[in-house]
Amino acid sequence: MAASNQNLIGLPRAELENWFAATGEKPFRARQLMRWLYERGEVDWTAMSDLSLNLRETLATSVSLQLPAVDTRAQSADGTVKWSLDVGSGQRVEMVFIPEARRGTLCVSSQVGCAMDCPFCATGRQGFNRNLSAAEIVGQVVLAGRELGLEQGASRVTNVVFMGMGEPLANFRELVRACDVLTDDFGFGLSRRRVTVSTSGLVPQIDRLAAVSNVALAISLHAATDDLRDELVPINRKHPIAELLAACWDYAARTNSKQVTFEYIMLDGVNDSLGQARQLASLLQGHPAKVNLIPFNPVAGTPYGRTPQPRVDAFRKVLMDRGIVTVTRRPRGDDIDAACGQLAGSLRNKVRTPLSEKTMHTVNRT
Ligand code: SAH
Ligand code: SF4
Repeated sequence: MAASNQNLIGLPRAELENWFAATGEKPFRARQLMRWLYERGEVDWTAMSDLSLNLRETLATSVSLQLPAVDTRAQSADGTVKWSLDVGSGQRVEMVFIPEARRGTLCVSSQVGCAMDCPFCATGRQGFNRNLSAAEIVGQVVLAGRELGLEQGASRVTNVVFMGMGEPLANFRELVRACDVLTDDFGFGLSRRRVTVSTSGLVPQIDRLAAVSNVALAISLHAATDDLRDELVPINRKHPIAELLAACWDYAARTNSKQVTFEYIMLDGVNDSLGQARQLASLLQGHPAKVNLIPFNPVAGTPYGRTPQPRVDAFRKVLMDRGIVTVTRRPRGDDIDAACGQLAGSLRNKVRTPLSEKTMHTVNRT
């Protein structure tokens, strides 16, 4: 398999049908191939018994089915699994599987690094290297299925969240193609509610997404005033809160979504006062919104600390009393640095140094 051959993983069904048609094959070959790839996680042509031997031989020499390579795999005491994946040229991204009683959530990366520069985030501190292709995004889900199926038996991916490394809406085209495969009946067949795109708030892309997809939307809000959000989520300087929220309500209406999820990291003494809870409630009240309070996962070298639990509870109560559904996320996998915001693959062409000590063990593997 030559690495330069076109990789058919991650091609949306329409593109794959066109591809087969262009090679003189029947378009339904696309569905056959997708079943092998996404239902069974099969990437070996020789196993695809309903494709003729001739066709398999042609495909094996002209195209590829290439998955990201596993660099390391770490398992947390709570069952969370984190993989560091080699995506070529010394670049690594991370992917995390979080098993729960009735679902298994796979947190995938959309970029190598991130350009958004949020000061509390390990990925942001690395700077940006490149976008992942749809093949590399969908490849993570295929790979996780193979790894979990092979090694853990019962665990399987029921939900995919774009909360790994990168800003998914800054990689719009490949994100949309990947979501197409995730939600296609002949792809992973996940319902739109089980695929969540989390964004720091790229307003024009939220509008564009509503036109082409209806996956679940999550917004990394983290602050209820522009002054503070300008600091915590710098893209806010370009698209302030009012503009962002208007895009969210519009997204919910156009995609007929029950709600938009607002992620809010609780940063000790920064954004966690009861007054700030009331400001947040005023922004969201009467809108299709749900709040997810996230414990800050320590990233060495940042000035932030985790809000003590009693204050998280009091903050939550203010929101609940105003009728806003608010859940508190439990930290998962923090013993293996697999929690949100702790993902830090390695970048050969790092934009910024120094990396925190916490991320050095990953970097040193290159
Ligand atoms: N770039 C996108 C998606 C990836 S980040 C976004 O920002 O939404 C996924 C989530 O992890 C975001 O809500 C982000 O704010 C959060 N996060 C980043 N650093 C974190 C940290 N140190 N502790 C907890 N959550 C963090
Ligand atoms: Fe990028 Fe999200 Fe991290 Fe901000 S929180 S730097 S947008 S990955």
